[in-house]
Amino acid sequence: MSKVLIVGAGGVGSVTTHKCAQIPEVFSEIVLASRTKSKCDAIAADVLRRSGRTVMTAALDADNVEETIAFIQKIRPDLVVNLALPYQDLPLMDACLATGVDYLDTANYEPPDEAKFEYRWQWAYQERFREKKIMALMGSGFDPGVTNVFCAWAQKHHFDEIHELDIIDCNAGDHGQHFATNFNPEINIREITQRGRFWDHGEWVETDPLSWSMNYNFPEGIGPKKCYLMYHEELESLVLHLKGLKRARFWMTFSEQYLTHLRVLENVGMTRIDPVEYKGNKIVPLNFLKAVLPEPASLGPLTQGRTCIGSLMKGIKDGQSKTIFVYNICSHEASYEEVGSQAISYTTGVPAMIGAMMMLQRKWHSPGVWNMEQFDPDPFMDALNRHGLPWQVMEIR
Ligand code: NDP
Repeated sequence: MSKVLIVGAGGVGSVTTHKCAQIPEVFSEIVLASRTKSKCDAIAADVLRRSGRTVMTAALDADNVEETIAFIQKIRPDLVVNLALPYQDLPLMDACLATGVDYLDTANYEPPDEAKFEYRWQWAYQERFREKKIMALMGSGFDPGVTNVFCAWAQKHHFDEIHELDIIDCNAGDHGQHFATNFNPEINIREITQRGRFWDHGEWVETDPLSWSMNYNFPEGIGPKKCYLMYHEELESLVLHLKGLKRARFWMTFSEQYLTHLRVLENVGMTRIDPVEYKGNKIVPLNFLKAVLPEPASLGPLTQGRTCIGSLMKGIKDGQSKTIFVYNICSHEASYEEVGSQAISYTTGVPAMIGAMMMLQRKWHSPGVWNMEQFDPDPFMDALNRHGLPWQVMEIR
C-alpha cells in the first residue's frame, strides 16, 4: 500500500496514471500534479470513468524546488515519478533529497540552453542519495528503460558476453498529420537534430545527424523499414554495464515525409534553441514551434498501426556465436482503447509504472542513483508480460 506522486500530465503521465490506477494493491493512493491543473483534472476524470479510482490533482511548477518541497511535505508520497520534461530532473531530485523520498524518471537531464543529454549530472547525486538512504531509478521508459532491461536479461540468460548491440526503435504507425511528434515535440526535435554517436571498441564515434541508415526487416508482418543511426542516452550507461561490449548503436525509423518537414524546419531556423528577438520579446524558435504542433496526447484517436522496439544482440555463449532480437510489438489502437493514448506514450508510461512498482515492492531497491540494467531483470520482464507489453525473443541464425 503506497502513495505515488506523478509529476507531468502529458501523454506519458496520462498512461502511467491509468496503469497505476489498475493496480490498487500497489498504488493505493495516486496524486497527479503538473504545471496546468486542468490537464490533471481531465486525466483524473478519465481514470475515474475507466477504473473507478480517484486521483488527487494539483498545480505544481516542478522547476520551483521550494514549492515542490512544500508540496511533497504536504502530501507525503512514498515515491515521486517524474513524467514532466528532462529539464525538471534535477529540481525534482533536489526536492526528493530535501524530503527523503525516492525518485524515478524516464529521460535524463538536459540543460534547456544546450541540446545535450548525459547522465553525468544525475550520476553526480550518487553519494547524496546513498547518504540520505533514498533511491533514484533513471530512464524507466521504453528506450531508455525496457531496452536496457532486455540487455540485462539477455546477459543473464543468453550470453557469456554480448559483443554487439543495436537498439532498434520502429514506429510503423501513422497519425495522418503532415508533421507531428509522438512525444514532447521540443525534446523529440532536440534529440533527432543532434549529431549521431555510437560506441566502437572503447571509443565514441560521431556522425552527421541522420547521415547513416540501414534497412531492418521487422518481425510479425511489419517488414523492412529504413532506420537512422542516432545517439541515445541508454548507450552511455550500457557501455559501462554490459560485459565485453565492443559496439553499441541506436537506430530509429522515420518516414520520408517526416524527414522532409524536419529538414525544412531546420533550414528556416525553426529548430533553433537560442533566443531570437521578435517585436521586442525574446522567443526560442523551437518553443514556438512546439506551441503550433499537435500535442502528443492529442494523437491517440488518430494513430493506427504498431510499434516494434527491441535490442538486437550478438555475442558468445559456451564458445558459440549467437544473435538474438528481444522485442515488443505494441498496437496504437489497442493502447488507445485501453487508456486513451497512442503507443509511444503507452510504451513509455507502462514501464514507468512497472519501475515504480519494482521500487515500492522493494524488488528493486537500493540507496543511490541507478540505471535500469543494474537490477535483476527477471521481475521487470515478468511484469511487462502481465501489464500490456509482452515481449518475444527471436534467435537469428
Ligand atoms: P508532454 O509534453 O506530453 O508532457 C509533459 C508534461 O509535463 C506537460 O503536461 C507539461 O505541462 C508538464 N510540465 C512541463 N514543465 C513542467 C514543470 N516545470 N512543472 C510541472 N509540470 C511540467 O510530454 P510526454 O508525456 O510526451 O513526455 C514526458 C517525458 O517522457 C519526457 O521527459 C520525455 O522525454 C519522456 N519520454 C521518454 C521515453 C522513453 O522511452 N524513455 C519516450 C517518450 C518520452 P504543460 O502541459 O502545462 O506544459
